[in-house]
Amino acid sequence: MPVASQTTRVQSILLNGYHGEPTRGSVTIHEFDRGYRIRRAVAGLGKWWGVGLLTVLIPVAHFVLVPSFIAYGLWQFVQRLGTKELAADARGTCPDCGVEQTLELAPRWRAPQLVTCRHCHRGLRLTLP
Ligand SMILES: [Zn+2]
Repeated sequence: MPVASQTTRVQSILLNGYHGEPTRGSVTIHEFDRGYRIRRAVAGLGKWWGVGLLTVLIPVAHFVLVPSFIAYGLWQFVQRLGTKELAADARGTCPDCGVEQTLELAPRWRAPQLVTCRHCHRGLRLTLP
């Protein structure tokens, strides 16, 4: 069995707004191999089932909390198992208002995707150069 690992690369991106030239930015992408995805999925499942187990001690509320955390744990497991690339630390300059900022991305990396400028609240399109 190969050693489970995680590799990181920095990808440059383009941001397109309503007008003006597209601007450049960058995003850090963590790539997970199969073994790492499985470990990450099991860790997520264990964490939420652990929380679910603790809520057994809360009277009445446990009827809702325990099944909710079990379901959420399963959902996390499936999500993490399917996440091959995770985006983090995305930065760029808004082509419309010119403010440099940290961008809020979808957790699972994909391009193109839509992002919102934190300053002027306009929708921007993130693409690869
Ligand atoms: Zn803006």
